[in-house]
Amino acid sequence: MFDTQKKFDVAVIGGGPGGYPAAIKAVQNGMKVALIEARQLGGTCLNRGCIPSKALIANAEILRKIKEAEKFGISVGSISFDYAKMVQRKDAVVEKVRNNLEELITSNKITLLRGYGKFTSERTIKITGQDNLEIYADKTIIATGSEPRSIPAFPFDYKRVHDSTSLLELTTLPKKIAIIGGGTIGCEFASLYAALGVEVILVEMMPRILPMENETVSSFLSKAFQKQGITIEANAKVQSIDYTEAGLNVSLAGNKTIAADIALVAVGRQLNTSAIGLEKTGVYVQENGLIKVDEHMETNIAGIYAVGDIASKWWLAHVASHQGLVAGNNASGVKATMHYNAIPSVIFTQPEIGMVGLSLEEALEAGYAATLSAFPFGALGKAQAAIQTEGFAQLVTDKKTGQILGAQVVGHEASTLVAEMGVAIANELTIESVADTIHAHPTVAEAWLEAALLANETPLHLPPKKKAGLLHDAR
Ligand SMILES: Cc1cc2nc3c(=O)[nH]c(=O)nc-3n(C[C@H](O)[C@H](O)[C@H](O)COP(=O)(O)OP(=O)(O)OC[C@H]3O[C@@H](n4cnc5c(N)ncnc54)[C@H](O)[C@@H]3O)c2cc1C
Repeated sequence: MFDTQKKFDVAVIGGGPGGYPAAIKAVQNGMKVALIEARQLGGTCLNRGCIPSKALIANAEILRKIKEAEKFGISVGSISFDYAKMVQRKDAVVEKVRNNLEELITSNKITLLRGYGKFTSERTIKITGQDNLEIYADKTIIATGSEPRSIPAFPFDYKRVHDSTSLLELTTLPKKIAIIGGGTIGCEFASLYAALGVEVILVEMMPRILPMENETVSSFLSKAFQKQGITIEANAKVQSIDYTEAGLNVSLAGNKTIAADIALVAVGRQLNTSAIGLEKTGVYVQENGLIKVDEHMETNIAGIYAVGDIASKWWLAHVASHQGLVAGNNASGVKATMHYNAIPSVIFTQPEIGMVGLSLEEALEAGYAATLSAFPFGALGKAQAAIQTEGFAQLVTDKKTGQILGAQVVGHEASTLVAEMGVAIANELTIESVADTIHAHPTVAEAWLEAALLANETPLHLPPKKKAGLLHDAR
């Protein structure tokens, strides 16, 4: 029934950071591969997530630096900016990266099918859209990702009540924004908008912002946000959002109302697994839409794999990509296994946050004799030179073996700094390995060296009294 043009060794549904690496890996293993994408290559991350948000954040960082120029002896006169031009630059960045990705897919000789893919059986997929056809694939990798989740009591209208996608498309800034949800996305937008001079009210239902993250990190960010003029309403449940002539009234439980021009609702994501014909395959889907997979990213149905947001508790592009490589290998007969002990996550706020491995609480809960050693950025020459003294780097280590179990860093270049500890944790290195590694001077990476020395109770650039146990004093 299927001619050879429509028969593939591997089909990948979804061309985001989970799907396209899976397709490339399968091709590298000699497979004939179809990649099915309903919208644009690059998925949420490239088109509506990581890249556009970080492009705007880069603009805000420049503005922040210019505003601080006086501290460096530089006079800049009056400062102004054109937000529409910032958005234009963001769009140009996204387009450039997407064009590069399209070339990558073509040069890898992957058949790109543009349309919505839906299973018609375990081995067949119907594509509807720009391309309309049914294909046969021996193996399929599902990478359909997620969309912003709306709350029925206050649905998105994309004019005043926004999701992260429509907010990224605005070309003018409001005077005041209410951000509902103090998770990663809510905090990143709060930081961005505050840097651009918008009045920000950040509303979080749980007792603190970043409720899923380590307490030290969350409370450090809260204090930094308050200094930046961001109002945090924690323990606050939004009951309704009402339209007024001037904008919106956000009503919180307990009779408190916040007036704002617009609102961002960032309260989670819904998984794209309900409309892709999974019932025709027997693939098991949990009530919350998550597809259950094993450590090889295979579902309960042999030959069908799932990767990315739909198959993970980590909704991160790099996790999706690594899972894609693992699934791409297994679908081509090359055994590969997914490990989750060293997943870095970065929050691109001001200050930046980087985390990998276990927090102290998680390590203690897991039964380790865990200890924490934190080194303040203020004690680093490079941080002083760059006037970037806000923040700290801390290591969670096993007292018995010296193994590094986790690391958290808040401050200048945290997004880059976390990588060193990713390598250390993935390779089960100890504090001695870090302490014995020569770190370039002056760099903020020396904070890891100092934290390792501190864990050994032999601090170099902190007075002896500020040893492990008294670390919070150091910040
Ligand atoms: C504002 C924002 C900022 C973010 N910032 C970061 C960050 O800084 N770092 C980070 O690691 N993560 C970040 N993320 C999360 C990251 O974007 C996601 O974890 C990642 O994109 C998930 O990849 P995925 O491949 O699983 O799904 P997606 O990226 O959602 O891709 C899925 C693709 O599948 C397509 N598709 C869906 N159904 C079908 C179908 N039936 N047929 C064909 N195609 C289909 C979609 O069109 C989409 O292109 C951010 C997310 C948001 C919203």
